Amino acid sequence: MAHAYLISSNNTDETMKILLNVIKNIFCGEYEDNSNKCSLCHLIDINNLPSLKIIEPDGNFIKKDQILALKNSFSKSSVITKEQVYIIKNAEKMNKEAANTMLKFLEEPDGNVISFFLTNHIDNVMLTIQSRCQHIDLSFHNTLEEDLSITKEKYTEYLEVITNYLKELEVNKRKLILNNLKISEYEKSDLINIFKIMLEIYHSKLVNNYDKINHDVCDYLNNLSKNNIYAKVKLITSYLNKINYNVNENLLLDSFVLEMDGINNENI
Ligand SMILES: [Zn+2]
Repeated sequence: MAHAYLISSNNTDETMKILLNVIKNIFCGEYEDNSNKCSLCHLIDINNLPSLKIIEPDGNFIKKDQILALKNSFSKSSVITKEQVYIIKNAEKMNKEAANTMLKFLEEPDGNVISFFLTNHIDNVMLTIQSRCQHIDLSFHNTLEEDLSITKEKYTEYLEVITNYLKELEVNKRKLILNNLKISEYEKSDLINIFKIMLEIYHSKLVNNYDKINHDVCDYLNNLSKNNIYAKVKLITSYLNKINYNVNENLLLDSFVLEMDGINNENI
């Protein structure tokens, strides 16, 4: 285990929950996720364990005095736990004096002190602090339905339509008769969402990142080359722009499927 960590996140509350569980594991060998009986863990829960200090901005900044007080309280070794741990929330809000005092603290390593710096704005954390910490990214990502502002039900419905559509196109290699397809019955606003989801499917396959799409539909694309998928990402993006203009939806979908099929026929 390192002695100083810089955790970047976009959700401080969720990150704190995770971090406090990590800290319970550090302090308490008995700790299990569902155990509320341990008195040590209870002290952590009520923020009353002397060897755990959580520093937050006092007003707009974290000030030098706060860091000095922390240093002072950690100068005596802990009677309850072997380690001493502190968390600096909003680490980017240390003013210059505080950061310099902090640096001195970091430079006098005590084997039993572990530091966690939390920030939502890692670029604003002083470089000298950054360089002394091990970085961890704990950013939370929106789901695709959150990004699109649609309900879970609507998302599931779209995904089913897209799955059938892509199965015909990519697996059965059938030229689709679009008038028979559910996709052409949708209004423009639905169609935009459908194309956005389709784009995310191909894109996630391209970068092997299934944060947003984790579904069988991705398996239909397993046999496609990276170039093939890349060409389709570009094509879907261009059609997403076209849908925004007032064009005839059926003609648009017809030419889309021909172009998708064209990419497959080029054997790229
Ligand atoms: Zn415990």
